[in-house]
Amino acid sequence: MLDILSDKSLFRRQCLINGQWCDADDNSVLAVTNPANEEPLGTVPKCGAAETRRAVAAASAAFPAWSALTPLQRGAYLRAWEQAIKDNLEDLAKILTLEEGKPLAEARGEILQGASYFPWFAEECRRVCGDVTPSFRPGTQALTRHAPVGVAAAITPWNFPFSMLPRKAAPALAAGCTIVVKPAGRTPYSALALAELGMRVGIPAGVINVLTGDAAAIGGEIAVNPTVRKVSFTGSTEVGKQLAADCAPTLKRMSLELGGNAPFMVFDDADLDKALDLAMGSKFRNAGQTCICANRFLVQSGIHDRFVDGLAARVKALRVGNGLDPDTDMGPLINARAVERVDAMVRDAEAKGARLLVGGHRHALGGNFYEPTLLTGLKPDMRVFQGEIFGPVAAVMPFVTEEEAVALANDTSYGLASYVCTRDLARTWRLFGALQYGMVGVNDATLAAAETPFGGVKYSGLGREGSSEGLLEYMETHYMLLGGL
Ligand code: ADP
Repeated sequence: MLDILSDKSLFRRQCLINGQWCDADDNSVLAVTNPANEEPLGTVPKCGAAETRRAVAAASAAFPAWSALTPLQRGAYLRAWEQAIKDNLEDLAKILTLEEGKPLAEARGEILQGASYFPWFAEECRRVCGDVTPSFRPGTQALTRHAPVGVAAAITPWNFPFSMLPRKAAPALAAGCTIVVKPAGRTPYSALALAELGMRVGIPAGVINVLTGDAAAIGGEIAVNPTVRKVSFTGSTEVGKQLAADCAPTLKRMSLELGGNAPFMVFDDADLDKALDLAMGSKFRNAGQTCICANRFLVQSGIHDRFVDGLAARVKALRVGNGLDPDTDMGPLINARAVERVDAMVRDAEAKGARLLVGGHRHALGGNFYEPTLLTGLKPDMRVFQGEIFGPVAAVMPFVTEEEAVALANDTSYGLASYVCTRDLARTWRLFGALQYGMVGVNDATLAAAETPFGGVKYSGLGREGSSEGLLEYMETHYMLLGGL
């Protein structure tokens, strides 16, 4: 397996604490498998609370010197890290595909997207200016400055094992924080490779620490440890709520990027071909395993049948296979449990009257592969309407009026991404106000960018990543009142 890497030392199988690669205290390990063929990829240390306490202490010891650097100096490290990522793109893409399953082209895209957070925050941290507020009382002057919160922790998911890390580490380090990272147990190697590159470009010991292992033990220690002042988590709503409860006694700042249930609305006046291209990208990227994937296709009655016909042809044309094969459009799901979940949702929809137009079953390739699926007759009582599908299943329902579409779109406890295909400017503006979502893509579905605030409302989470807001999530505002002037 390692033979396909040109630099095998990027494939790190140990944790990073205080600049040292290390094993778990008791030498226990977790096994990691390739979702495409279920073959073992290797092991990583199974760390717990004790190793986490050491990593937090290392991050805390590194904080004074790191936060005392100028933004320009910290930014130089981030830029060097970005360059190292670009220089190792092919190996990083292969590691990502091996552990996560997505096609290599998607893996490259994820890595470059992730890398783009480094230069953005290297630039942005130079512009974190305080205010001098007009005096509110004679003889006084009020001033503010922004300071890093201290030690931050990042807990990242398996579906974007690479890009979720820069999204958190770049603003944290740019702000002057040091960080403890826990990647998902199923996909730890991208984060470890990234840490290896961080060490190569000379990021000081303790500024970034990476722990693999027992999620509840590591997460539990992160939550209760009073030295950790900020937790950024991307994952399920269920775990996010638990983590928020666990962090309450130590009152940490939190960013939570949780689940979604994105409506993808197509109006009669939409550009059909464009809508179909966007629908395919939004639904089938990463085999439907993204938190901003289109989850419910709401299609106006005048364009519904043409949209369904066009989508069916495109879904049938998708080539399913191992992500390392350049001809593959869609890889496997992450594991057998994911396949079971998705299949159960399709069976539920079928039982409640949905029509299967394409796919709808486990793929002939077996293992973790599922057929790209299109079903029509979606209804609000179906599980595919109510919850995150997290699989390659497009479910379509018709609507008649804009009001009806908005009511359906908002009929969920989630509020992350939403999509609208229309050429009507006034409608666009109305929907921007009416949709209860943190993000709306109008005639475009690629929302994540370093420059823009990514995040949700309702049960989709708290806080924003990217943009200037993403930096302030790792900073406190300090206010000074000067009297007696
Ligand atoms: P998913 O179901 O998509 O894997 P999870 O929310 O379970 O999403 O996982 C997201 C991240 O949270 C992973 O890194 C996982 O290991 C971690 N995690 C899972 N359980 C806990 C927990 N109790 N405390 C902290 N982190 C956890």
